[in-house]
Amino acid sequence: MAIDSRDPSFPEIREAVRKLCADFPGAYWRALDRDRAYPSAFVAALTQAGYLSVLIPEEFGGSGLGLGAATAVLEEVHRSGCNGGAAHAQMYTMGTILRHGSPAQKAAYLPKIAAGELRLQAFGVTEPTAGTDTTRIATFAKRVGDAYVVKGQKIWISRAEHSDLMVLLCRTTPRDEAKKPSDGMSVLLVDMKQAVGNGLTIRPIRTMLNHATTELFFDDLHVPAENLLGEEGQGFKYILDGMNAERILIASECIGDGRFFIDRACAYAKDRQVFGRAIGQNQGVQFPIARSYVQVSAAALMVDQAAALFDAGRPCGTEANMAKMLASEASWYAADQCLQTHGGFGFAEEYDIERKFRETRLYQVAPISTNLILSHVATHVLGLPKSF
Ligand SMILES: Cc1cc2nc3c(=O)[nH]c(=O)nc-3n(C[C@H](O)[C@H](O)[C@H](O)COP(=O)(O)OP(=O)(O)OC[C@H]3O[C@@H](n4cnc5c(N)ncnc54)[C@H](O)[C@@H]3O)c2cc1C
Repeated sequence: MAIDSRDPSFPEIREAVRKLCADFPGAYWRALDRDRAYPSAFVAALTQAGYLSVLIPEEFGGSGLGLGAATAVLEEVHRSGCNGGAAHAQMYTMGTILRHGSPAQKAAYLPKIAAGELRLQAFGVTEPTAGTDTTRIATFAKRVGDAYVVKGQKIWISRAEHSDLMVLLCRTTPRDEAKKPSDGMSVLLVDMKQAVGNGLTIRPIRTMLNHATTELFFDDLHVPAENLLGEEGQGFKYILDGMNAERILIASECIGDGRFFIDRACAYAKDRQVFGRAIGQNQGVQFPIARSYVQVSAAALMVDQAAALFDAGRPCGTEANMAKMLASEASWYAADQCLQTHGGFGFAEEYDIERKFRETRLYQVAPISTNLILSHVATHVLGLPKSF
């Protein structure tokens, strides 16, 4: 393994995660990838070991360790060649209940989520026509008696088929009747088992990576009014609150991917003999790997800073965005260089490079695309005029 330029945090957790991941080698992921199947055994192992409840406070049965520990878990998962995308949302989606739920909702759900009895790893925000402009979502929840009746459509909702609950963002006031565009949206907690076939249809989308993502159709789905999280009309703020944790955790997955690619590129470059010498002896092969290492190391520091701010309860929106952007670009560069280092073998499934290459590409688009991060920095940090 390449050296980590940091003194890595949570060394015991990292070692234990690596040990767990060793039971899920490349062959396991390749078989799932071919069938676009869900890694149930891997997710069960992570759950049993308690890694998915590190952000849940101890009073609700989690380990209450914070985001720093969660980033260590996901970085090691990805560095080991595994993929946390099937389960990472179980770590942070519960934050909406933790921060905005009533005492009764917290008591009802958090201990079961911590124990792994309930999976809350689906969140429905994106819609086909709204795109990144979330204030334009059209899925509408109309209050009728003691229920909300939901009509509309969502797209790219990951893990919906593997979740007991979903955090769903809907309009409860039409955009043109709200005081501001970001008002009038609300968050509902949807019981997926009850909903499917009773107003909710889930349609899987086959993508270039194995990500269990879906399209959702709501046709008068009844959600009990008691499943409203926080105040009606304030949902956009609640969703934004959760996005910092998501971006920092996904950035840590990119750091893990980047280190995976660097480890593999170094090993191959030392071993592969062409023209009577190791290819890694050529600076044309060395330098891109060294550059990857520089970029991943720098991005890792930004991830650490964002996580430290989050855990200290301080504002971290800009740092979370910058960490996600730097880490996703560093992992993509490392992926490209690792593939190049492997020559033709980089394209062979059995090396796992092409699979990880496809997987790490996602993170420049989701959960937020690079342009939108640049726009945030340009207007919110640098005070440049707004472009939209
Ligand atoms: C595999 C996968 C899983 C996902 N999982 C989930 C999930 O679980 N839940 C969920 O709610 N969503 C999920 N998403 C959705 C994801 O968050 C969005 O795809 C992402 O935020 C980009 O939005 P969009 O696809 O609508 O792109 P668009 O908003 O249509 O943008 C398209 C491109 O145009 C650029 N662009 C748009 N407007 C501007 C502008 N003003 N200036 C400059 N550039 C601009 C964007 O940067 C982007 O590159 C997932 C997506 C994928 C692909």
